Amino acid sequence: MAEKEDFYKVLGIERNASDAEIKKKYRSLAMKFHPDRNADNPEAAEVKFKQIKEAYEILSDPKKRSAYDQFGHAGVDPSMGGRPGSAGGEGFSDIFGDVFGDIFGAGRQRSGVQRGSDLRYNLELSLEEAVAGTEAKIRVPVLVACDECNGSGAKKGSNPIICSTCHGHGQVRMQQGFFSVQQTCPTCRGSGKQIKDPCGKCHGQGRVQETKTLSAKIPAGVDTGDRIRLAGEGEAGERSGPAGDLYVEIRVKDHEIFTRDGANLYCEVPISFPAACLGGELQVPTLDGKVVLKIPAETQTGKLFRLRGKGVKPVRGGPVGDLLCKVQIETPVQLTKEQKALIEKLGESITGGGKHHSPQEHSWTDGVKNFFDKLTG
Ligand SMILES: [Zn+2]
Ligand SMILES: [Zn+2]
Repeated sequence: MAEKEDFYKVLGIERNASDAEIKKKYRSLAMKFHPDRNADNPEAAEVKFKQIKEAYEILSDPKKRSAYDQFGHAGVDPSMGGRPGSAGGEGFSDIFGDVFGDIFGAGRQRSGVQRGSDLRYNLELSLEEAVAGTEAKIRVPVLVACDECNGSGAKKGSNPIICSTCHGHGQVRMQQGFFSVQQTCPTCRGSGKQIKDPCGKCHGQGRVQETKTLSAKIPAGVDTGDRIRLAGEGEAGERSGPAGDLYVEIRVKDHEIFTRDGANLYCEVPISFPAACLGGELQVPTLDGKVVLKIPAETQTGKLFRLRGKGVKPVRGGPVGDLLCKVQIETPVQLTKEQKALIEKLGESITGGGKHHSPQEHSWTDGVKNFFDKLTG
């Protein structure tokens, strides 16, 4: 694969560009390289368009941007173990669909009707739900097409009439001094239609506020920040305009045992001092039940044990992650007199035995000794 171009260069911005500048530049470039505007060379425009989109996805996300600033493409490239972006291997139509919602949003006018706004719904999931996938029932307050007038805004049995001011054009010419200026029609606000007899339920809006209950299928492996798009479940358009989309944004709650990092899970497992010395078997929790972990003799605190394939299967595919267990050796508490005596005896045997029984302490004391030797010598 050819060396990737610097994302800042792709967008033509400085490295310290603000979020607003990034967004502005992205919009103007995405419009410029939109295939409708590049009918003479759509393939080249598509390549450029993808590049712009990929750069924007990274630089508009503070986390990804800082990873990119620190490590370059390796910091954000999915093949290097980072979070998968959506720039690779995707059909153009997907990218196209995505960007359009974003660029034109609710303001895009098509023959006088307005598309409804996209909505975002924040969904909190437990780690178990995120890993296994779930069916979430969500209730969203949303503007829906009025059922009384079928979204037209006109009273039942009547129809909107052609606007008498602009004769259906949605635009009017105004004389200002020597100039003639074209303006959005003030009577119909550009729709070209007028409602003589407004619908009583929606007052001519064509939309009413309602709470929709939706069921969203959440695929297995999602993580915080992932978005699921429910096409057409956003706000209804004004006067029969197309509906926007609903984006369900995932946030995974903290788990009491496991911490997640991409496909891997981490947990801390306490073990007793004798088990650490002599080795043994430990029961460790995984998301689908307990498994037995063999601990070798002379295990040090902080050691990580890897249970392959006991992590998370990423939602965008790829290998299942691992579960990493960090062993924490516990100092015994509430000791009896007898136990204290035994430990004292053990202590004497360890320090007086002539062997190095404490690997860390031994090198640490040597280090301290060298340090003082250098100071005094
Ligand atoms: Zn109505
Ligand atoms: Zn008009």
